[in-house]
Amino acid sequence: MLRIYDTRTRQVEEIAAGRALRMYTCGPTVYRHAHVGNLRTYLLSDLIRRVLERRRVRVVACQNITDVGHLIEDPSGEAALGDVASGEAASRQAVSHEGEDKVLAQARAEGRSPLELARFYESSFRSDTAALNLRPPEHTPRASESIDLMVELIAKLIEKGHAYAVPDGSVFFDARTFPTYGEISGNRLDALKPAHRIDAVDPRKRFHADWALWKPSSEGELTWDTPWGRGFPGWHVECSAMSLRFLGSSFELHIGGIDLRFPHHEDERAQSDSAAGHEVVRHWVHGEHLLFDGRKMAKSTGNVVLLSDVVAAGLDPLAVRMAFLEHRYRQQLNLTWDTLKAADRTVRRWRTRVAEWSESISAPMATAYAERVESAFDDDLDTPAALRILRELERDESVAPGAKFETFLHLDQVLGLDLSADIGKARVLPAGAGELLEARARARDAKDWEAADRLRDELAEMGVRVSDTSEGQTWA
Ligand SMILES: [Zn+2]
Repeated sequence: MLRIYDTRTRQVEEIAAGRALRMYTCGPTVYRHAHVGNLRTYLLSDLIRRVLERRRVRVVACQNITDVGHLIEDPSGEAALGDVASGEAASRQAVSHEGEDKVLAQARAEGRSPLELARFYESSFRSDTAALNLRPPEHTPRASESIDLMVELIAKLIEKGHAYAVPDGSVFFDARTFPTYGEISGNRLDALKPAHRIDAVDPRKRFHADWALWKPSSEGELTWDTPWGRGFPGWHVECSAMSLRFLGSSFELHIGGIDLRFPHHEDERAQSDSAAGHEVVRHWVHGEHLLFDGRKMAKSTGNVVLLSDVVAAGLDPLAVRMAFLEHRYRQQLNLTWDTLKAADRTVRRWRTRVAEWSESISAPMATAYAERVESAFDDDLDTPAALRILRELERDESVAPGAKFETFLHLDQVLGLDLSADIGKARVLPAGAGELLEARARARDAKDWEAADRLRDELAEMGVRVSDTSEGQTWA
């Protein structure tokens, strides 16, 4: 069974799933296109899901869409990368919860209505995740359509003494009523220092680390009436409300990018557990950051790469998936155009190989290899090891081509690389392939098998399948 690193207990834990498992992933804030760094987290959720499903576990996934309430100063994604790089010290400061709503600010910049903007980027997100073969979650609630759930949760927290309303229409969570605050990130309340700005002096709060569950505002289409006044929800309360509604008051996995550990997940845990009266989430799982060319991917650094940029560069979108799989989710991944191109070549070569093998005499799966790959997946998603074993299988001449075919297709259920895409495809010889075929024929004549194999790989990367027959080589 799958074992995975639990950020809260700080150890690799076996995921005790019966026949069903529920998981929540913090979804995108839909105010711009997701970059490939953002998409890495969602691949983590997809992999966990696919590994569990292979073990016949029925997975129910919920992933929210944040279309309101996520303020520019809320640390997430690019904004928090710097904090993580500089270690715990930076995140020890309580973070300001004031600032402007990301969706509203961008809508103004683009001259669109906030909802128009949010729906546009939500649909862009859906096409990106579909292009990466990420299975759609069962539930994808939008924050703006779940306000009643949040109001209900906030009312419950007030009633139980965990939250308080103040005269301006704000509602705050009373951090000191949740003594185990900080278990996920290690940022315990007594170690949190007041932030230098608003929080330190905010007279509305009982304690500097309290955070807003509801914020007053009367402007625009993204505000709602509540018992405390008109306003909009705080970002952290959204995930608690939606996960409790769609997955229940006790569920197995909560997944997100590492930057969400604090304060987002600490706040979420405090809210959910205080409402439920017990620990709601069994395991907290976090995916590491992605760097591009050695630097954080951020608008401010000018190195944002979108999936559409990868496609425009002539690469298969699944090259991104392959490049992610080459690294374990807990490793910081430094992506470059070269690693993307290399990943693209591997995907194309494997598709060509699978198509070649599909024409061989059928043979049962190479079980020993399949089991090794599956144990690598189970071992805290050791995808680099899984890929190494697959490369070994690709080269192993003692395994019949038909067996390789079965094994690669079987494992593609988890890899999600569309390895059967080239089966039965007629192809025109691409530019440059003719020369390589001739060079390979010469290498074979000279019995230079090493060169012949290398040329075969190069041809496979171009989508040309070479077969050796008694009459010489043929291609398809
Ligand atoms: Zn969340």
